[in-house]
Amino acid sequence: MKPLTELQKQVNAYDEKYGWADDATAHIALHMNEELGEISRRILRYEGYKNERFDRKELAEELTDLLYLLLKLANKFNIGLDEEWDSMWSRYEKKTSRR
Ligand SMILES: [Mg+2]
Repeated sequence: MKPLTELQKQVNAYDEKYGWADDATAHIALHMNEELGEISRRILRYEGYKNERFDRKELAEELTDLLYLLLKLANKFNIGLDEEWDSMWSRYEKKTSRR
């Protein structure tokens, strides 16, 4: 498994290559909402709410689209997600309920 930091570097190099490193943070956030909508549609298909064929591969691709944007947004704020993940996880491990 690749560390999140490595994925963030990969995203940064990709965005620099195509001139997307200066994308506005608001646009990234809006794009994340678009991808979440695409994920939601696949879930609605999976649950049978939408009478459309569910495709697990499509869901996987939409989840990964969202992950790319999450990594990109973290890059915009120089947030290291490996460190933040560890910090979050140590908080979660102390929880005794979902609250
Ligand atoms: Mg997508």
